[in-house]
Amino acid sequence: MDKVVLITGASKGIGKVTAQMLAKEGYKVIANYNKSKNEAEKLLKENNNIDIFKADVSKRDECRELIEYAIKKYGKIDVLINNAGISKWGLFTDLTDEEWEELMRTNLYSAYYMIQETLKYMIQNKSGCIINISSIWGMVGASCEVGYSVTKAGMDALTKSLAKEVGPSNIRINSIAPGTIETDMISDLSEEDRKEIEMQTPLRKIGKPEDIAKTIKWLIEDEFTIGQIISPNGGWII
Ligand code: NAP
Repeated sequence: MDKVVLITGASKGIGKVTAQMLAKEGYKVIANYNKSKNEAEKLLKENNNIDIFKADVSKRDECRELIEYAIKKYGKIDVLINNAGISKWGLFTDLTDEEWEELMRTNLYSAYYMIQETLKYMIQNKSGCIINISSIWGMVGASCEVGYSVTKAGMDALTKSLAKEVGPSNIRINSIAPGTIETDMISDLSEEDRKEIEMQTPLRKIGKPEDIAKTIKWLIEDEFTIGQIISPNGGWII
């Protein structure tokens, strides 16, 4: 296998498990991290086929450095997974400009920068797969997570519109919009909140990072899916 995968935000949660799963399958993985250096170094030490690179993907220069590193090392990027993300919880009326800006930059601008900087190589190769990790909240909106929901809806719109533009170059772009997944991102949820989510989910459970990693792997290997928002969510949205 000589397929090269670049995944952002791979030091923890969904990104980390995806990097591990793909590396085991033989993909060459560049795992990006920003603040979690120790976790990233552990990932590097414990896995063949994984290389790590520090970059704050909310900044275009650092996205460019990350992509140039992958190109220098492997000469191409077959798969780009825009997974890095943050969430902020609170009333819309309390949201500050700084918080709004940080959400937009980290969740949405990062995808814009990463895709724009990678596309030139994919177009040259007439081949590529781009996966944006959005959220069910981009599809239906979340109370007290308005900024977050806006970033994820933006990602989905990017997926749909760009699919029409780059499909003819044999580049497939899709979104995966997870339901609630067991990672640090939901560590603030109370036991009561968790029970409530499970009760509202037809499969009566919170998902695991592996559930999303499996969907990512399927989408990489698929050859006819483009411009879609695929939502592994236990039935939360049907
Ligand atoms: P997580 O465990 O908190 O991991 C978030 C990852 O994003 C970390 O590896 C973090 O890296 C990285 N990251 C954050 N800001 C970054 C930046 N500026 N530059 C580079 N990396 C950055 O969260 P997760 O649940 O796995 O989330 C992964 C994606 O799934 C996110 O886009 C999230 O919105 C989405 N999602 C999650 C859920 C859920 O319920 N968990 C549901 C729907 C969608 P460092 O720690 O190294 O900075």
